[in-house]
Amino acid sequence: MRSAARLNRLGTEDAYVVLGAARQLEAAGHHVVHLEIGEPDVGTAPHVVEAGIRALREGQTKYALAAGLPALRDAIAQSLTGRGVRTFAENVIITPGAKPMLFCAALALIDPGDEVLCPNPGFPIYESVVRFADGTPVYYPLANSRSFAPDVNAIAERITPRTRVLILNVPHNPTGGIASPDDLARLAALAERHDLWIISDEVYWQISYGSRSQSIAALPGMLERTVIVDGFSKAYAMTGWRLGYGVMPSWLAGPMTTLIINNLSCTATFVQYAGLAALQGPQDSVQRWVASLKARRDLVVAGLNAIDGVTCATPPGAFYAFPDISALLERTGLTCQQFAERLLAEAYTAVLSGTAFGPGGDGHLRLSYATERSELELGLERLKNWVTSLAAVV
Ligand code: PLP
Repeated sequence: MRSAARLNRLGTEDAYVVLGAARQLEAAGHHVVHLEIGEPDVGTAPHVVEAGIRALREGQTKYALAAGLPALRDAIAQSLTGRGVRTFAENVIITPGAKPMLFCAALALIDPGDEVLCPNPGFPIYESVVRFADGTPVYYPLANSRSFAPDVNAIAERITPRTRVLILNVPHNPTGGIASPDDLARLAALAERHDLWIISDEVYWQISYGSRSQSIAALPGMLERTVIVDGFSKAYAMTGWRLGYGVMPSWLAGPMTTLIINNLSCTATFVQYAGLAALQGPQDSVQRWVASLKARRDLVVAGLNAIDGVTCATPPGAFYAFPDISALLERTGLTCQQFAERLLAEAYTAVLSGTAFGPGGDGHLRLSYATERSELELGLERLKNWVTSLAAVV
């Protein structure tokens, strides 16, 4: 027996592989510091949990409409004015998380042979879903020297007559980089000139430590060629609820709904009521969450820069640090992947190799700092001691 060849085109997320290895060490009695997984350590706000439970008690246990609850679609459309996007319920489609919307957007927009510009380093699922949809991923670089902002000239150089989609992710996983308003305006002009779609992954939009940028979809004419992908996982600490959405031209929402009827049917009804409470209720838990992340970011960046051979820029968004460890790799002869594996096996500290995000991540680690302060301090101490012991051996 054999499976369909298309399954071989799927990639994966190393975060889950490393999490599995960390869990094995824990089962053997070790205390592992988890800096590998991009998940808020705080719980979902109580009023959101209550809204979900109330919905269940009130009998919201049936199928919802495939595109989502009208009230939630409307609330999402209204919330987008915060990023400069003027849109309506008919433009919004709800999915169980942002990831299914990425998947559906790839299937909806990419024809065989289409080239899709993907950030490198970048969220590995982009490349995976592009290949699954028979497209060809074309990497564009995000460089440390430009604070990991998208390099518009480098993107322009990679556009060919076959380029169909540009995937943007601001703030960016794994680097925390953002794009300036000028970058976004130039990217929008490129998209218009070359008739490109933009898939704008904005799942970290609320997790910005300076002024929040507008969405690229806010720029004139861009709503017609952009699919915004966002969700409730990161900002509202709702990873396990599975709630996300896409915002797109209304003509695309119809076929997208048919795609959803074919694979998801709909998103859990009570979860959508919880999402409605998250959007319409008090936002102070989000503000507290972002403020506490900022303090943790500063702790981690300072701790990393205090380690000989490590340099780390201060990321303006998301909840990841992306330190440059190339000096340590050169000194020890380890590859990035070996460094991360040995750090876990010998110092019980789980991080991701930058190469988990494509070849452009080489020479870096990704650390999620959305975890308790005491664990961050322990992880930094372990990293420092382990690096020192390595230097002593080499
Ligand atoms: N996009 C990016 C850049 C992410 O980092 C993640 C989660 O790690 C997602 C999308 C998926 O989020 P969700 O939990 O809403 O599926």
